[in-house]
Amino acid sequence: MGDYKPSAAETSLSTATQLAKEIQNHPPTDQSGVLYRQLRQPPLNIVKARGNYLVTDTGLEIFDATCGAAVSCLGHNDQRVHEAIQEQLQKVSYCYSLYFTNSSMENLCKFLVDSTGGKMSRAYIVGSGTEAVEASLKMAVQYFMELPTPQPQRVNFIARKQSYHGNTLGSLSVGHHVGRRAIYEKILAKNVTHVSQCYPYRDMKSYETVEEYVGRLAQELEDEFQRLGPDTVCAFVAETMSGATLGCMPALPGYLKAMKEVCERHGALLILDEVMSGMGRTGTLHAWEQEDVVPDLQTIAKGLGGGYAPIAGLLLNKHVVDTLTKGTGSFVHSQTYQGHPVSCAAAYRVQKIIQEDNLLPNVREMGTYLGQRLHEKLDSHPHVGDIRGRGLFWAIEFVQDKRTKEPFPPSQGISWTVHTTGLKPEHAISLIPGNGGADGINGDHVCLAPAYNITRAEIDLIVDRVTAVVQDALGH
Ligand SMILES: *Cc1c(COP(=O)(O)O)cnc(C)c1O
Repeated sequence: MGDYKPSAAETSLSTATQLAKEIQNHPPTDQSGVLYRQLRQPPLNIVKARGNYLVTDTGLEIFDATCGAAVSCLGHNDQRVHEAIQEQLQKVSYCYSLYFTNSSMENLCKFLVDSTGGKMSRAYIVGSGTEAVEASLKMAVQYFMELPTPQPQRVNFIARKQSYHGNTLGSLSVGHHVGRRAIYEKILAKNVTHVSQCYPYRDMKSYETVEEYVGRLAQELEDEFQRLGPDTVCAFVAETMSGATLGCMPALPGYLKAMKEVCERHGALLILDEVMSGMGRTGTLHAWEQEDVVPDLQTIAKGLGGGYAPIAGLLLNKHVVDTLTKGTGSFVHSQTYQGHPVSCAAAYRVQKIIQEDNLLPNVREMGTYLGQRLHEKLDSHPHVGDIRGRGLFWAIEFVQDKRTKEPFPPSQGISWTVHTTGLKPEHAISLIPGNGGADGINGDHVCLAPAYNITRAEIDLIVDRVTAVVQDALGH
């Protein structure tokens, strides 16, 4: 699947008439019914997709080097997943989880729990990463109410700067995407504070060792617990590997362990958000497998369903489930579409394919290769400040001045320019733009997150195109 490339002839012949119709069906912006993300700037119209390629209504074949937002981990149009969806539709498309279960949800949750070696003992399936994060926050609060001696005073959350956890009011409150928060600040939750992100490129001092830097971050968390009152903290929330907001920053060795130790010292929970970094993206099914740490609550989403259905999950550590089971025995939370049979069938098939096709070793191997090639081609570029990542999840951070690491002024919109340059027909590659990584306002990067079945030749193609895009957009 991964190496399918529709030929120009195929695109133009087999779909020519259909394309003409599609174009007709999509009138100019002022006649569109869609509230586009850029209201005055309609995005390209994708009429079909296969493997790594997205095809627009003008026949442009765009290499999807990001799986959308790190979603389409098997590439597009995998017939095996389509079949699983069809099969589920023949059985039952929807049943209400208040009083029914369904075999696809059972299969998926069993798979997920088993994949953690039983460390996480139950899964709660919802429709988006945001919903999973909301559920995790509410579960953390309820957990403390269900202890033999309830701790209702634990209402504070500590999260990290330059993090992203979703866009509803609760998840936006724990996140720290400055641009997305700004106009809503006054209605965001007041029980959340933010400590520094783990970001050695800008924040580790030249005289510090990794241990010293990690120690300093752990001390900052400890100080925040003390400031709030250690027994008022409900949970510390962090992305296991920072995603699109900071730009693909893996945790430094020992960092998450040190943070978890602070939580444990004060009886607070650790919530790891793996919506973007989990389900294989960083080379292991769960990103925490590469850290010396197991979360109390874990969120997953993007790669879970590979884009074949909107789906996300909350995984619960055994001790949390046991506490609830011995307590009221019911999570005070629900959503109409939780455990949706069709979404679960799609995600279960996606996960079985990752297993059957043995894709995780490929993620690790091709990820290492992608990193090497990016360094080789772009390290010397005067406006490339940092290249970092893990597995098939890499970011390139742009700077105005390499020596001082001074970012470009946000008004220049550098990451957006790089992204739109990528979509020009002569490059035809999609890159995720990100800004504000340096301090919330300044900083530009793009992220790469190709499909798990990517080949060496396709990595070469990505790196060649990205290099050309960077040169086209930033010179040299
Ligand atoms: C994308 C993302 C979310 C939100 O997921 P949605 O499906 O967009 O609601 C939450 N956390 C992280 C780390 C993400 O990358």
